[in-house]
Amino acid sequence: MARYIGPVCKLCRREEEKLFLKGTKCMTPKCPVDKKAYPPGQHGTRRRFKQSEYGIQLRAKQKVRRIYGVLESQFRNYFESAERQKGITSENLLQLLERRLDNIVYRLGFAPSRKSARQLVRHRHFMVNGRLVDIPSYSLKAGDQVKVKDKSKKLEMIHAAMKKIREDKQLPWLELDKAAMVGTLMNIPARADIPLEVNESLIVELYSK
Ligand code: SF4
Repeated sequence: MARYIGPVCKLCRREEEKLFLKGTKCMTPKCPVDKKAYPPGQHGTRRRFKQSEYGIQLRAKQKVRRIYGVLESQFRNYFESAERQKGITSENLLQLLERRLDNIVYRLGFAPSRKSARQLVRHRHFMVNGRLVDIPSYSLKAGDQVKVKDKSKKLEMIHAAMKKIREDKQLPWLELDKAAMVGTLMNIPARADIPLEVNESLIVELYSK
């Protein structure tokens, strides 16, 4: 399956904010966004003019796409599915992205970033409802259980990530049994329960042109 293989920190610099794509490095002074507070490229330091309406909408879309690690065509497919569903398209879109297996693995705290979560899923370290699933985009339903495979329970990357789990930061729509290394998607989160600072309605405006 296609995925972005270019420089990751450049994506944050382009959005001029931390998107936390690399896990531990993002919390250290090595983060390039802290060191170079301007977009990448030879024109990055140039004086910038007021962004157009299209530019603002495009940046909102790119930010969400990059946070969840989804390529343009895949993102468009998510948008079209969100449009077909009942309810608010922008909320449906975020819910579809949140239900991805790689995102749930990251949100539960089994991986330091979505990128690492994706790699762990591809390497067959997780089971969903007792069945091995190695598709990062696999869409979970309310009540689905994600479990670290028995043979993978000693994996250093998972243990290091789990040490950083903070009980007070657990999301209300996820339940984690740390000892058993099992997480459950209790319900599909409402927009207010998704910790993401973005105006997602701009994405709907962009794709509705
Ligand atoms: Fe983004 Fe993390 Fe790289 Fe900083 S270290 S630029 S937050 S991916």
